[in-house]
Amino acid sequence: MGEQQGRLVVVSGPSGVGKGTLLQKLCDRHGSHLRVSISATTRSPRPHEVHGREYFFYSRTDFEKQLALGEFLEWAEYAGNLYGTPRPAVMDWISQGELVLLEIELQGARQVAQSYPAAYRIFIAPPSLAVLEDRLRQRFTESESVIAQRVAIAREELAAAAEFDCTIINDDLEEALGELELAVFGGGAIP
Ligand code: 5GP
Repeated sequence: MGEQQGRLVVVSGPSGVGKGTLLQKLCDRHGSHLRVSISATTRSPRPHEVHGREYFFYSRTDFEKQLALGEFLEWAEYAGNLYGTPRPAVMDWISQGELVLLEIELQGARQVAQSYPAAYRIFIAPPSLAVLEDRLRQRFTESESVIAQRVAIAREELAAAAEFDCTIINDDLEEALGELELAVFGGGAIP
């Protein structure tokens, strides 16, 4: 990476841990100092989700076409759906010297570690698996079988926390946000 290059930061952790909320708050405070990649997915939109805002919602066929064209920086199948980071936007931002954040699951985070070793990788963990399960239920967006599937995946993801550069436990949201600010902006002044 040359001096003009931006930075890539990966934020990972199990579904329901609060990654989205933390990143939203980080953007509220520091939006002009960072970019958050908008992923593509074959999952159906939840109520209030908007195409091009939370995700680009694609059919499996369209996703697979993009995949074959090498349009994804990383991608994974998660709980029966495909998710991927569109490469062009991220590469443009990096070359413009921006700080780029990816909110992705474990398999994708591992791919980025291989393909972009300079990326800083942050793992967000729940205080316990029971708390995570409660939070997934409180969201009221998934069926019981989907919740069970996500909890099973979470067990595996939590076992991989040590692969990351740092782990933040999201117990108290404000505390976790403070730790995330430090992790993302490093030891220097937080903008
Ligand atoms: P959800 O369906 O709850 O929005 O996301 C399910 C999981 O997929 C979450 O852990 C989320 O971080 C992850 N995810 C979202 N976008 C991407 C992506 O572009 N790539 C990968 N690998 N995972 C993603």
